[in-house]
Amino acid sequence: MKKIALLGASGSIGSQTLDLVRSNPEKYQIETLAFKGSNFNLIKNIISEFNPKAVYIKDFKVKEELILFFPKIEFLENLKDCVLFNEISHVVVAVTGNFGLEPTIKALENNKTVVLANKETIISGGCLIKDILKRTKGKIISADSEPIAIQQCLKNENLEKIRNVYLTASGGPFWNKNIDFEKVKLEEVLCHPTWSMGKKITIDCATLMNKGFEVIEIEQLFDINYEQIKVLIHPQSAIHSMVEFIDGNILSQIAVNDMRIVLQYALNGTERKENLSNKFFDFSLINKFEFFEVDKKRFRCLDLAYDAGKKGQSYTAVLVSADELAVKAFIDGRISFIKIPEIIETLLEKHSPFNIRDIEDIKNIEKWVKKEFVIKP
Ligand code: NDP
Ligand code: MG
Repeated sequence: MKKIALLGASGSIGSQTLDLVRSNPEKYQIETLAFKGSNFNLIKNIISEFNPKAVYIKDFKVKEELILFFPKIEFLENLKDCVLFNEISHVVVAVTGNFGLEPTIKALENNKTVVLANKETIISGGCLIKDILKRTKGKIISADSEPIAIQQCLKNENLEKIRNVYLTASGGPFWNKNIDFEKVKLEEVLCHPTWSMGKKITIDCATLMNKGFEVIEIEQLFDINYEQIKVLIHPQSAIHSMVEFIDGNILSQIAVNDMRIVLQYALNGTERKENLSNKFFDFSLINKFEFFEVDKKRFRCLDLAYDAGKKGQSYTAVLVSADELAVKAFIDGRISFIKIPEIIETLLEKHSPFNIRDIEDIKNIEKWVKKEFVIKP
């Protein structure tokens, strides 16, 4: 039985994790749940259905109200408290932004397995996480479709035999459209062609920052050089990534676009088990696999991510925080879509880099980015 702490239970990844638990009560059990507090009724229903031992809710008012409905459940003070219970074996980190970092660190320090959907955590705090992995029995398995594809292609292979890794991208809604990025509306950006996800990651897909984040994620998780990581637009989103070896052979991973397949594989410690979502790839529905180069002049976020990753130190944490604020400003209607890379680039240029030593350093970077975040007309 896998005993799970699920952080971000009401989101896109969170609800798909709950689907797996719901359909397999003999395999998975929810121990703790965490939410921000955006949807009172949804949270109430989830708590009623899964009856966790403890819950964290960031929004104070929502928490106070829910306490009245669930007097027997413990309501926790901090997000990281959700992972500390002895019986928890797996922590699914499905919150957005840097909020995932502290609970991930605590989970690894307590020898738990972290199923990490929240890629920002490894991008901002990769060096801290790698250090903990060396000295504990904690494990980290990505629950992102591209890293999990690469992990499968690399099973039993030697890293030295890799020539290139091809990271595929759907390209988002605009990769092949000649439209004015100054005038793009939020609704258009949120129309992802192949995946249904939370708002932030959907916008990151449209700017290609999500792919840039994944480039850094791959470097951090598998120690593959940036020069060997190539991004290809693959509009069918069928091949989730490929690895080319020095002998010219290329392995790829294909599956239906259903994160439950990814989550199940990650939760099972990359062991193959019966597909619980019962969705299988149908080749008759796709009559071609296409690949295109990224137009890096139009989609500048990709190179910003490569640059930040190659420079290392605190640059990647600045990238995450700057993107978080720029995307929020776009959602709030304070900036146009085209300003997102501009703002991030300005902040990266202004930043004086240093080596990240602890989580406080990352919190200080968030503060610095907030202070320096200026919207120019
Ligand atoms: P959503 O926006 O759909 O969900 C985010 C979840 O996190 C919600 O449950 C939200 O609660 C909760 N949350 C946000 N902030 C906090 C906080 N401070 N404390 C506690 N809970 C919090 O996001 P997604 O599920 O789409 O994405 C989650 C992560 O997974 C992201 O990092 C994303 O990049 C990554 N990812 C997502 C994929 C997908 O298919 N969606 C694919 C690969 C990676 P509430 O509902 O109350 O606001
Ligand atoms: Mg992905």
